[in-house]
Amino acid sequence: MDLNYTPEDIAFRKQVRAWLEQNLPREPIATLAQRRTWHRKLYEAGYLGMGWPKEYGGGGARPMEQAIVADEMARTNAPAPTNGLGLGIVGPTIVVHGSEAQKRRYLRKILTAEELWCQLYSEPNAGSDLASLKTSAVDQGDHFVVNGQKIWTSGGAIADWGLLLARTDPKVPKHKGITCFLMNMRQPGVDVRPLKQITGSSEFCEVFMTNARVEKSDQIGKLGEGWAIAQTTLGYERGGRSLARVTTYAAQYGCLANAARRLKRHGRPLSDDPIVRQKLGRIWADLEVERYSALRVLTHLERGEHPGAGGSVTKLSYSEFEKRFMELAEEILGPYGQLTEGAPPEYQLQIDTAVGERGTWAYAYLWSRAGTIYAGSSEIQKNVIGERILGLPKETRADRAGATR
Ligand SMILES: Cc1cc2nc3c(=O)[nH]c(=O)nc-3n(C[C@H](O)[C@H](O)[C@H](O)COP(=O)(O)OP(=O)(O)OC[C@H]3O[C@@H](n4cnc5c(N)ncnc54)[C@H](O)[C@@H]3O)c2cc1C
Repeated sequence: MDLNYTPEDIAFRKQVRAWLEQNLPREPIATLAQRRTWHRKLYEAGYLGMGWPKEYGGGGARPMEQAIVADEMARTNAPAPTNGLGLGIVGPTIVVHGSEAQKRRYLRKILTAEELWCQLYSEPNAGSDLASLKTSAVDQGDHFVVNGQKIWTSGGAIADWGLLLARTDPKVPKHKGITCFLMNMRQPGVDVRPLKQITGSSEFCEVFMTNARVEKSDQIGKLGEGWAIAQTTLGYERGGRSLARVTTYAAQYGCLANAARRLKRHGRPLSDDPIVRQKLGRIWADLEVERYSALRVLTHLERGEHPGAGGSVTKLSYSEFEKRFMELAEEILGPYGQLTEGAPPEYQLQIDTAVGERGTWAYAYLWSRAGTIYAGSSEIQKNVIGERILGLPKETRADRAGATR
């Protein structure tokens, strides 16, 4: 593991920093149109799709350069681009598994945010046990007809296209009968219904498909290979922007430590309380572990290696850390931590999310639960680590209700 930046990396960081200082939006982003404009600006500057092949509009950049941009964006609290799933999951899946025609048709429009994407995997009875999915795609000669229901579809309400997993053969073992498709969301057979979350926002949707149409040319990979393709997709979700995440946590930690200095208990700053100091120190130590774990992932990527099951270690570790961190924030901030509006600025936490809200500590606390569920829950990550890294015996049918992600 190499912890040093090269002179080129240092120069590149300076350049990114200068660009952000000049171009960061002056006002908070409130609408999708504003976020699309910001997204295009980032793309035109060469800061989106940095690792994608140049011939499809990407930048062909090294993982370290991508990490530096993400890190500088986190450091300056820059708004996220839109099309997070298109950039993070769908695009990379098309790059690896798509046909030449699919790459030419879809990739550039993901990068320019002309077309927004969602991921249509989970169903009411197929989350961790994704291979049990029931949505069907039936071959009609020149196209497929899709029927079924998806759930927890992030960004479904604004998506133009969806990366779909559907069952094309119900007779073979469940992992073998699944195929991956690109589905147009703007058609009469697709009904998208937003779900209200505990945070108050509605990023999630239910998606009902009734005789929806998918063109043959929009099948990704071979018939029945959808499960293997989904594994790559989930690998991208788990690998993530680990270094930038650590920078964001460190900025949030700074806000919390400042609040602890201002808040008083028995006439003294809360930060003088030895128990509070111990708990804050513990979180800082955990954060340093996250930083080295992120650098380890980056080292693998720089060497051209995929983190593979190692991505599960990072994902389990950061998502559980975030929960502990936000629980401590609530403990320290008391009632201020629960306010969704009206808190004095020193007790607020401004977080930019890709859906346009600027959040509070209360929002961040509620959202921290999500990381331990999406892209494979913590229990599923533990199974992956146990079986694929530690070589422990595989989970048996008696241990579980079905197969796991
Ligand atoms: C913020 C967020 C965004 C999401 N976005 C999308 C999206 O865009 N598209 C999409 O398709 N899905 C999305 N999801 C859905 C997500 O992938 C599923 O919620 C996740 O896979 C868990 O499935 P489930 O909710 O059905 O829970 P279940 O699988 O029913 O799990 C319930 C509980 O049982 C535990 N469990 C299950 N199986 C095992 C086992 N074998 N061993 C031990 N414990 C087990 C789980 O850990 C969990 O605690 C999103 C979820 C979240 C939270």
